[in-house]
Amino acid sequence: MSASKSRPDFKERAADLRARIEEANVRYYVLDAPTLTDAEYDAMLRELVELEAQHPELRTADSPTQRVGAPAAEHFAPYEHAAPMLSLANAFGEEELSAFDERVRKLAGRALSYVCELKIDGLAIALRYRGGVFERGGTRGDGRIGEDVTANLRTIQSIPLRLRGGVPDVFEVRGEAYLRKSDFARLNEGRENAGLPAFANPRNAAAGGIRQLDPKITAERRLSFFAYSVPETMDLGPTQWQTLRSLEEIGFAVNPYIGRCKSVDEVLAYCEEWEEKRDELDYEIDGVVVKIDEIALQKRLGSVGRNPRWAIAYKFKPREARTKLKEIAINVGRTGTLNPYAILEPVRIGGVTIQNATLHNEDYIRNNDIRVGDTVLVTRAGDVIPRVVGPIKEERTSRERIFHMPKRCPVCGADADRPAGEAMWRCTNAACPAQRFERVRHFATRGAMDIVGLGDVVAGELTSRELVRDIADVYALDEKKLSQVPRTGPKSRANLLDAIEKSKRRGLARLLTGLGIRFVGEQTAQILADDFGSIDAIEAASEDDLQRSTGIGPELASSVALFFKQKANREMIERLRAAGVVMTAPKRKRAACGPLEGKTFVLTGTLPKLSREQATEMIEAAGGRVTGSVSKKTDYVVAGDSPGSKLARAEELGITIIDEDGLRALSSRASEARER
Ligand code: NAD
Repeated sequence: MSASKSRPDFKERAADLRARIEEANVRYYVLDAPTLTDAEYDAMLRELVELEAQHPELRTADSPTQRVGAPAAEHFAPYEHAAPMLSLANAFGEEELSAFDERVRKLAGRALSYVCELKIDGLAIALRYRGGVFERGGTRGDGRIGEDVTANLRTIQSIPLRLRGGVPDVFEVRGEAYLRKSDFARLNEGRENAGLPAFANPRNAAAGGIRQLDPKITAERRLSFFAYSVPETMDLGPTQWQTLRSLEEIGFAVNPYIGRCKSVDEVLAYCEEWEEKRDELDYEIDGVVVKIDEIALQKRLGSVGRNPRWAIAYKFKPREARTKLKEIAINVGRTGTLNPYAILEPVRIGGVTIQNATLHNEDYIRNNDIRVGDTVLVTRAGDVIPRVVGPIKEERTSRERIFHMPKRCPVCGADADRPAGEAMWRCTNAACPAQRFERVRHFATRGAMDIVGLGDVVAGELTSRELVRDIADVYALDEKKLSQVPRTGPKSRANLLDAIEKSKRRGLARLLTGLGIRFVGEQTAQILADDFGSIDAIEAASEDDLQRSTGIGPELASSVALFFKQKANREMIERLRAAGVVMTAPKRKRAACGPLEGKTFVLTGTLPKLSREQATEMIEAAGGRVTGSVSKKTDYVVAGDSPGSKLARAEELGITIIDEDGLRALSSRASEARER
C-alpha cells in the first residue's frame, strides 16, 4: 500500500484519490446519485488520510480530508450555519472504537460516559427558529454555508413550526431528514407504476427530495425528521442526554433508542445489538454515533480538521457492492412464476460471497434499465435475498444487452403468460416439473381431492423420485411404486391407495380446485361446475362464455382458457378421465349477480388463513373486483399482518378497512344470497 510506494507514485496516487473523492462528493451531495458504494468511498478516503498522515506535505487545505461535504448548489439561496456543521470520523469495528475511547479518555484525563445514537441514513439539516417560530432551514453544504431549503422543510410533518417552552430568541437545531422504509416502498411502487426507475435507497430519495426547487415534490416524498443536537453556541443542558430530552420537550421528534453508556464495552454492546436489529426499524441506519455525554468536555476537546474529537461514527458492515451482471436467468417457482435473477461476478457483501441476486420481475428490469453485461449495484439487507439495485450507467461499454422475458417456460417449454395487472409471468403447464410438488400437494388437500396420506412428505418423495410427474400419475400409483417411498409400511400404503380410489368420486368442483388453475379456488370451481356441468363444457367455452358466469372476470376467464389451451393439460385431463375420475356435476341455476357486484377491493399484508389468491377468488366469486392500488374508487381494503403503505393510504382516504373475518362475513352473505 501507500508506505511502500516510491515518492512520485504516492503523489500521483494522492492526486488520483483526491480527484475521485471529489467527483464522488459531487455525485453524492449535489446530484444525490452516487455511483460508488459507501464502502468504496470510505476505503478511498481512508487511504488518502493515511497517505497524508505519512506525507504531511501532501495535505492541502482544499483536500477532501479537510473539508466537509460539498459546496452548496447555486440555485439555492445560501444558508449560513450558526457554527460549523462538521462530519464525523469513522470507526470500523471494535479495535477502532477502543482506540477512540482510549484517545478521548487520555485527553480528558478522567473517566467519562457516552451517549449512543442510531446513525440515521438521511441527510443533515439545520433549522432556525426566531421567537420560537420556524424561520429558515438549510442543508449542511460545506459545513459553513448550506442550501436554504426552507419551503421544502415546511412540508415535513415532524418538523415543528412552533416550539413549546422557552428557547433563546434565535435558536438552531440539527438533525436528520430521512425517508421511512415504508414510505420509500410506496414511493418506488408509484414510480414502478409510472414506468420510472426506482430510487436506489431511502437516503438518495430523501436527499433528492429535500434539494428540490418545487416543495410539492418534497411533500410527496413524505420525509421525516429526528433532531439530535444543537450548535455549540446554544445551550440546552450540561449533557448530550439532557439536550436530547430538552429537544423532545420543546416539540422535536428524537429517536427513542438512545443509549447512555458508562464504558466502551457498553458502547460496543449497543453497537452490536443495533447492527443485529437494524432491519426491525422502519428507517435505514448505517451505524451508531457515539458522543461524549458531557458538553463542557465536548467543547474542551473541540475538533481536528473536519471532525469533532469527541464523537465517532461506528460504521456497520457494508451491505452494498458493485459487480458485473454476467447473465439474466429464469428460475421457475413452485407456483409457476418465472422469476428473473442475475448471475453475478462473485462479490463479497458483509462477509458473504454473492453470486446471484433477484431482479424481481420484467418491469423492474425495464424501469431500471438493467442490461446484461452492466456493472450493477447489489445490496443485501439482513436475511433478505440480495437484490440488484440498478446499473452504473457511467460504466457502460455499449456491448450491454437488453433483456427480454422468455415467452415460454424455460423448464418445460409451455406458454408463459403474464395476466393483465400482474407483475409476474407464469408457466401455464400444470405438469411443469418445476411446479410438480406444489401441484400434487395441492391436488391432495382437503378442499380439493382430499387424499389422506398424501401430505408434504409423501408428495415430496413421490415427485422427487419421479414416481409422480403430474397429478394424473397419482392414479397410476400401486403398491409396488409406493414401496419405493421410504418410511411407509404395507398398511399406510394400502390406506393411501384406498384414499386415492375414493378421491375419484369427489366431483367436478373439487377436481377443478385440485387442478390448480390460477385464480380458481374452491368458490370459483363451484361456480364453474354449477354453470357448465362438465369439464368438457368448460374446455369448450370461450373467454366470453366463461365471463357470463357470476364472478368470472376477464382475468379469471383468460386464465381458465389458457389452462385448457395447453396440450399437456388436456392430455393430463384425458388420463384422469381414463383413470375413472368423475368430471361432471349437476348444473345448477344461480342468482345473476353476487352482492359484492361492483365493489372494489384491495388486499394488503398477510392474512391469517387465506392466501392472496384465495382471498381474490372469494371476492371475485361474490361478484367483487380486486385491484392493486388504493384510490377513491376502492370500497374495501382487506388488511392482514405487516400491511404495506396501502393501509396508510386507505386510512387517509377514509376507506373501510376489514380483516379476514370481515371478508369472510361479507362473502358468506354473498353465498347465502346466491342460494336464495
Ligand atoms: P458521516 O457519515 O461522516 O457522519 C456525519 C453525518 O451523520 C451527519 O452529517 C448526519 O447527517 C449523520 N447523522 C445521523 N445520525 C446522527 C446523529 N445522531 N448525530 C450526528 N450525526 C448523525 O457523514 P458525511 O460526512 O456526510 O459523509 C461521509 C459518509 O458519507 C461516508 O462515510 C460515506 O459513507 C458517505 N458518502 C458516500 C459517497 C459515495 O459516493 N457513495 C460520497 C460521499 C459520502
